[in-house]
Amino acid sequence: MKLSHSPITKHTFAHIEFYLKRDDLLHPQFSGNKARKFMFLLQSELPKINTIISYGSPQANSLYSLAALCKLKGWTLEYYVERIPDWLRDKPIGNFGGALKLGAKVIAVHDKSPHPLDFIQTVRNPDSSCLVIEEGGRERDAQHGIKGLADEIVGWGQSQKSNDFVVVLPSGTGTTSAYLQHFLKPYGIEVITCPCVGGKDYLINQIQSLNIQTLPQILQLNNKHHFGKLYHNDYQTWKALLEQTQVEFDLLYDPMMWQCLVDWHSHNRDKTILYIHQGGLLGNESMLPRYQRKFD
Ligand SMILES: *Cc1c(COP(=O)(O)O)cnc(C)c1O
Repeated sequence: MKLSHSPITKHTFAHIEFYLKRDDLLHPQFSGNKARKFMFLLQSELPKINTIISYGSPQANSLYSLAALCKLKGWTLEYYVERIPDWLRDKPIGNFGGALKLGAKVIAVHDKSPHPLDFIQTVRNPDSSCLVIEEGGRERDAQHGIKGLADEIVGWGQSQKSNDFVVVLPSGTGTTSAYLQHFLKPYGIEVITCPCVGGKDYLINQIQSLNIQTLPQILQLNNKHHFGKLYHNDYQTWKALLEQTQVEFDLLYDPMMWQCLVDWHSHNRDKTILYIHQGGLLGNESMLPRYQRKFD
């Protein structure tokens, strides 16, 4: 199976015309950022493997994407979390609910072990039929799928007869923005990002731990921002995006990137923007009710 060539559409937000790479439309279940990062698993022949093991938050996009991948490949997903909140266990929605429906086994190690990764290594003790995947897909192998995305971007640039555009996407671990910048640099295409998890120093650290030498341009908000917390500005931005583009963006990453981008664009009005929609919409199912309760 080959998933590629997501469409590119044109929109306007806050009087800024921009192009949007719809990676959220790659596949109904296996889409967005995590689909690109886990593409190497979809495309490799791994006859000895029958189980994928990973860990992280029970609400993470990577949980749902790995569950979708395992469904496509006929593998079992074991996903270890510290704990599952009672409200989520009672009413499984979002990435957690979606993953359960796809047959994922989500296992809480709380009380048993200090950290899910310790539990995997010392208690679960995976054999050669298992493949352990880093939290959030922070893997060097992620570059294969991101290379595919970069190639599609270069192809689009050639069809536009211009490489005079910037590629914009928000970062968590920075794996995607850094590999994109690595692959696009030879074409003179600049990548712009912002640190949604931790600050700028954390992001640079994460990127350098992958041994990537090229850094994307990193924009920041003026005030401190904590991942997963609710911010009125983020909610306003998300609603305005939906209203003006008719496209639903993700609530965790995209609002910060757009706030940074609107400011950046006021000093760079001549630049054409290609924004990467990295999916993550199932996560909105649990984020949006929290926002509505707090601000509506
Ligand atoms: C995981 C994710 C990101 C962050 O990707 P990194 O490669 O970790 O920087 C951004 N947006 C969405 C929707 C994601 O799922």
